[in-house]
Amino acid sequence: QRGETLLEVNNIEVIYNHVILVLKGVSLSVPKGGITALLGGNGAGKTTTLKAISNLLQSERGEVTKGSITYRGQKIQDRSPSDLVRTGVIQVMEGRHCFEHLTIEENLLTGAYTRRDGAAAIRQDLEMVYSYFPRLKERRRSQAGYTSGGEQQMCAIGRALMSRPETILLDEPSMGLAPQLVEEIFEIVRDLNEKEGVSFLLAEQNTNVALRYAHYGYILENGRVVMDGAAAELRENQDVKEFYLGMS
Ligand code: ATP
Repeated sequence: QRGETLLEVNNIEVIYNHVILVLKGVSLSVPKGGITALLGGNGAGKTTTLKAISNLLQSERGEVTKGSITYRGQKIQDRSPSDLVRTGVIQVMEGRHCFEHLTIEENLLTGAYTRRDGAAAIRQDLEMVYSYFPRLKERRRSQAGYTSGGEQQMCAIGRALMSRPETILLDEPSMGLAPQLVEEIFEIVRDLNEKEGVSFLLAEQNTNVALRYAHYGYILENGRVVMDGAAAELRENQDVKEFYLGMS
């Protein structure tokens, strides 16, 4: 079942460079307390959808030319990324993006930049992040650039958590990671969802793992949602099995 709707993407179109139509009317919604997966192959438009939500398309010469995006009923299309963070929405970009020359702990602390509460509260959240990611605690004094891909992915999620988000847009967390580590990260995502109440919109090419952890999924093909449903139903769907799970 689906709770109160936080994020609502309504029939958006995205065009790059004024001519390349990449999203051709995408609609989806993210309920409070859910893990929602956005699935599809390479180039289907997952990253574009997340960037449209967090208003990060401009630097790529992309724009939303149709449709609307709301969060708790408020239009969010014109908000700057930092305004959006204050609203409770933060994106963890594909390919990790930690500051390589800062330590893990310094990276985490940069995530608290939009907060106005004091050092004690921030310290407390740092401990919260370490409780979910014990590996980050062990590596807290290491320069991020010298940590493993998995640790950098954890660092990026941890840094997002430091803004106390209500919703995290997580782009391709499994990318480039060994299967064991992918499971570890998804288990932490599930824990954060269950214990901290963080809602997730998760873009993933790895349909198999995403549908085991998500509650609901949307499948994008060529800039359109071609199917959506409860994760358990999608896992049993014949087309999904054949085209996305490699079974037939
Ligand atoms: P991936 O898993 O590779 O990130 P994706 O589903 O996230 O795939 P997008 O990155 O959103 O897909 O890309 C969707 C389409 O938009 C692709 O055909 C891509 O080539 C095109 N595209 C992405 N960024 C730009 C850009 N800045 N200018 C022009 N076309 C772009």
